[in-house]
Amino acid sequence: MMAGKMLIIGAGLTGLSTAFHLEKMGGIDYSVYEKEKRVGGLCRSEYKPCPGLKGKFTFDILGHLLHLKEEYTIGLVRRLLKENLTTDIPRDSWIYSKGVYTRYPFQANTYGLPPKVVKECVFGFISAKYHSLHCKTRPPEGSFYNWILQNFGEGIAKHFMIPYNQKIWTVHPRDLTCGWIKVNPKYVPSPNIQEVVIGALEDQKKHFGYNVRFDYPRRGGIQKLPDAFEAKIKNLELNTNFSRVNIRKKVAYFDGGKIEEKFRFLVSTVPLPELILEIIEDVPEKVKNAALKLKYTSVLSLNLGIKREEMDHGHWVYFPEKEYLFYRVGFPKKFSDEMCPPGTSSVYVEIAYKPEPITQEKEEKFVARAKKNLVKAGILRTEREILVEHRERIAYAYVIYDRNRDRNLKIIQDYLKEKDIYSVGRYGGWKYSTMEEAILEGKEVAEKLVSEL
Ligand SMILES: Cc1cc2nc3c(=O)[nH]c(=O)nc-3n(C[C@H](O)[C@H](O)[C@H](O)COP(=O)(O)OP(=O)(O)OC[C@H]3O[C@@H](n4cnc5c(N)ncnc54)[C@H](O)[C@@H]3O)c2cc1C
Repeated sequence: MMAGKMLIIGAGLTGLSTAFHLEKMGGIDYSVYEKEKRVGGLCRSEYKPCPGLKGKFTFDILGHLLHLKEEYTIGLVRRLLKENLTTDIPRDSWIYSKGVYTRYPFQANTYGLPPKVVKECVFGFISAKYHSLHCKTRPPEGSFYNWILQNFGEGIAKHFMIPYNQKIWTVHPRDLTCGWIKVNPKYVPSPNIQEVVIGALEDQKKHFGYNVRFDYPRRGGIQKLPDAFEAKIKNLELNTNFSRVNIRKKVAYFDGGKIEEKFRFLVSTVPLPELILEIIEDVPEKVKNAALKLKYTSVLSLNLGIKREEMDHGHWVYFPEKEYLFYRVGFPKKFSDEMCPPGTSSVYVEIAYKPEPITQEKEEKFVARAKKNLVKAGILRTEREILVEHRERIAYAYVIYDRNRDRNLKIIQDYLKEKDIYSVGRYGGWKYSTMEEAILEGKEVAEKLVSEL
């Protein structure tokens, strides 16, 4: 056994992958603590029965599809899920605006929208490209808003990019940087002029972007991936909240001090503001102030079991317009037939909101409006089609890349590094990232820890 205990906080994919890779190396003393009753973090699923029906609905707490690019993760996920994985499902996603469904991405597929809108989008795009071609100096690095205008022009900005992004980030794109796109420029597909023109004149079926194909478990929803990691690790404590840490003594306390553990290294996937402001003792003011300035959005996720065999809107649909409360609606039965009892289907709805605590009354209003919106968009025929529902409030959903994010994050990470704390994952690392990145980061951290022992 190598000297020094590794404590891993959180059994989401990042924490699980860290433990999995430490376990694989052998002879390393580690423990994983998770506050929930089940592993998975954002990749959890709920299994909901419905009176009178055989079988249960599988509701992922948030729509989660595996867009794997790296050979290592493709191989690992296939080995973990074995025959319980459908691979290379071609994406079928749409946008609903101006009363019509058009193909994703909006910028390459305006065919079917009112002619005035198509004209504004295409002319705006051509003019933006012409301008950038004839502009002798490169425009300075600016806001996400500038980036949208420079890359897509005013029409696409007005009819999709601004309203959609404002909905999901809860702030105007002028208050965001392009930091989240730099991680993977393909997050926002960039068609060329020919593709934009063709996509305005005909129903272009070409695929764009980073997520053109995806993998998904056949049975049991996305939960089956964290479950498969769990089966390969040891020393996991569920239902145990990491509540305090004394970094001078290197002791972590759980459930208000009922359990304590000494550690050599701490790997935390706890959201950074909570780690700094609520868990670590005696944090310097400068670091606390930096944590107070980290911005994020929350999401209310609503899963509905539907009394109808089929729903006809592809895998998922984006909703840019303000009159629709949600930014995205998805159809799990299209990922796998096994997500719903026979003769039924299901829908998930994602609603972003500013991270103030919402009252039960406000949540009820959100849900009531979302259901009405589903009928208005023709997704539900009537609300009476709803058989069961499951709701989940995701306090930390999207990290906001505002102008202060990088500076504040650096102050915090520099401080944590000195104390042998690795704050990683989507919320520990305070970033926009995917399941694949969570798995890869877990591997990277495990290797780093072992090299430092
Ligand atoms: C709306 C939405 C949709 C997404 N869709 C996709 C998708 O389709 N494809 C994709 O690849 N990625 C998607 N992602 C991203 C993906 O969910 C994340 O990258 C990944 O799940 C992050 O894993 P994590 O372990 O870093 O964080 P988490 O999943 O948040 O795990 C952190 C864990 O720490 C635990 N924890 C927190 N505090 C404590 C504490 N004090 N004590 C003990 N335990 C604690 C939590 O309970 C949780 O289990 C999506 C994200 C969102 C928000």
